Amino acid sequence: MELWYTEKQTENFGITAKIKETLVTEKTDFQDLAIIDTVEFGRMLVLDGMVMTTVKDEFVYHEMVTHPALFTHPNPKKVLVVGGGDGGVIREVMKHPKVEKAVLVDIDGKVIEYSKKFLPEIAGELDNPRVEVLVNDGYMHIHDHKNEYDVIMVDSTEPVGPAVELFSRGFYQGIYEALKDDGIFVAQTDNPWFKADLIRQVNKDVREIFPIVRVYGANIPTYPSGLWTFTMGSKTYDPLEVDEASIPEIETKYYSPRLHKAAFCLPKFVEDLCK
Ligand code: SAM
Repeated sequence: MELWYTEKQTENFGITAKIKETLVTEKTDFQDLAIIDTVEFGRMLVLDGMVMTTVKDEFVYHEMVTHPALFTHPNPKKVLVVGGGDGGVIREVMKHPKVEKAVLVDIDGKVIEYSKKFLPEIAGELDNPRVEVLVNDGYMHIHDHKNEYDVIMVDSTEPVGPAVELFSRGFYQGIYEALKDDGIFVAQTDNPWFKADLIRQVNKDVREIFPIVRVYGANIPTYPSGLWTFTMGSKTYDPLEVDEASIPEIETKYYSPRLHKAAFCLPKFVEDLCK
């Protein structure tokens, strides 16, 4: 008998993956959590029926949430990750020696616990001495910390359940105030095929708050539509003005100094959402 995991990405479309083994399923205080081992993409974290990360393609998302902002800011000493309990963004942040402290705030401690147990290649840096892990609502944390962070990365689930407020204008205003005077924030902002309205709304909200707003993309095969976007809001530094020659080659598999600016070249139908 074959067992398949299907994610309904819309009411009428989805993806399906053949399962080798179910490692854990649990209804946490915040969401339905599962970690399954799939034939094609290896171990996979699923929250509320949505693919969060897989061992095979996680590097794309985690590198692209992290490196464009950390190579745009000249001296990112203190950074914050909202969400990100699987540890992948933190692993990429640790590749930046300029970062003296990285704070991770995820609302669900079970994501952290099970990612450490079943996804060590992704969660392995959560115990790094430069990292502080907090189990809390990122919305609350942002509003309790003013003028504190150089870079904030929002690695949240889609705007459902506890993450709904992480796509609100009030949250982006709170991020602006939690950033230092030359701070940068980046958030994952879903896909233009099924969530065009979300991208349009987030872009409108962030443009009302930040002087510099840039959107970039990446190809993530296990995410809805495969075309993923990230929205960056910056108080002073423009990612498109970074000198490619100044970006060091670090251990990556998707991001590169050559890709830094190229990622901001979007298909016309996506550009049109961000005007
Ligand atoms: N890369 C994935 C994506 O783009 O959908 C996100 C992965 S990460 C596991 C998402 C995390 O956001 C989850 O661990 C979830 O617990 C966390 N999260 C959701 N709402 C949150 C909130 N209000 N505050 C902090 N973390 C939150």
